[in-house]
Amino acid sequence: MMTILTYLIPFLLAFFGMEFMAWFTHKYIMHGFLWFLHEDHHQPDPNTFFEKNDAFFLVYAIPSWLCIMLGMMWGNTFSVGFGFGILAYGVTYFLVHDVLIHRRFKWFDKVQNPYFKALRKAHKVHHKNRFKEEGSCFGLLVVPRKFYQEQKKKR
Ligand SMILES: [Zn+2]
Ligand SMILES: [Zn+2]
Ligand SMILES: [Zn+2]
Repeated sequence: MMTILTYLIPFLLAFFGMEFMAWFTHKYIMHGFLWFLHEDHHQPDPNTFFEKNDAFFLVYAIPSWLCIMLGMMWGNTFSVGFGFGILAYGVTYFLVHDVLIHRRFKWFDKVQNPYFKALRKAHKVHHKNRFKEEGSCFGLLVVPRKFYQEQKKKR
């Protein structure tokens, strides 16, 4: 049991910490000095599949790979668990943001769950603003309650 926890605790810390990181990065960095990389996500070119915005994938991939690899080399379970937490968040981010919300792949088009519909709605509100300044809803998995309640009522 203890051994599971030495992986599970850092895993959960990383996963939920990443939601905060993603919110912070999106609000202050992507809509800040790295706007030139994020701009094409708000003003997409219908003729290309990849966006410059996809470079943010590295924000998850590099630290996660380093934590797992170095943690294994040094026998540090905290680091390994933390690395898998970042990895899991990266995969979730891709599935929720790119597939569920933006439908780059048609895997979840029939989703009816009010939480997932609320996620999609909140991010659509973020995209209503096509520019750098004055956005809203920068988080991904944490949605303002009103979006969830709205979707729940609709059922
Ligand atoms: Zn944005
Ligand atoms: Zn976005
Ligand atoms: Zn988006």
